[in-house]
Amino acid sequence: MDLLELLRFQARRYRCTACGENMADCGINVLAQQGNRALVRVTCASCNDENLLQIIFQTEADEERKREFDEGFPEVEGPISGDELLDLHSMLAGHNGPLTELFRRS
Ligand SMILES: [Zn+2]
Repeated sequence: MDLLELLRFQARRYRCTACGENMADCGINVLAQQGNRALVRVTCASCNDENLLQIIFQTEADEERKREFDEGFPEVEGPISGDELLDLHSMLAGHNGPLTELFRRS
């Protein structure tokens, strides 16, 4: 599964902040990738609202920490893999600032 497929898979779990439509059919453009981070532009298929998202790929250390943190919580139901590679928690928040806030060139 490549990055776009992963993003598409994750997008189905979110709704557009502007119109409330499910993001399953949204447009996804990967603008930049650096290390374990990617900058992605998501365009709502319904209202064309655009959001810039910073995607952070979870490292093995993160996954272990998450497992510890999630201990005692019920498993998520549905066909969602337990090995999610992306953290899209910022999808709803979006990002309206300049790209340099997300990626500083060395
Ligand atoms: Zn929308």
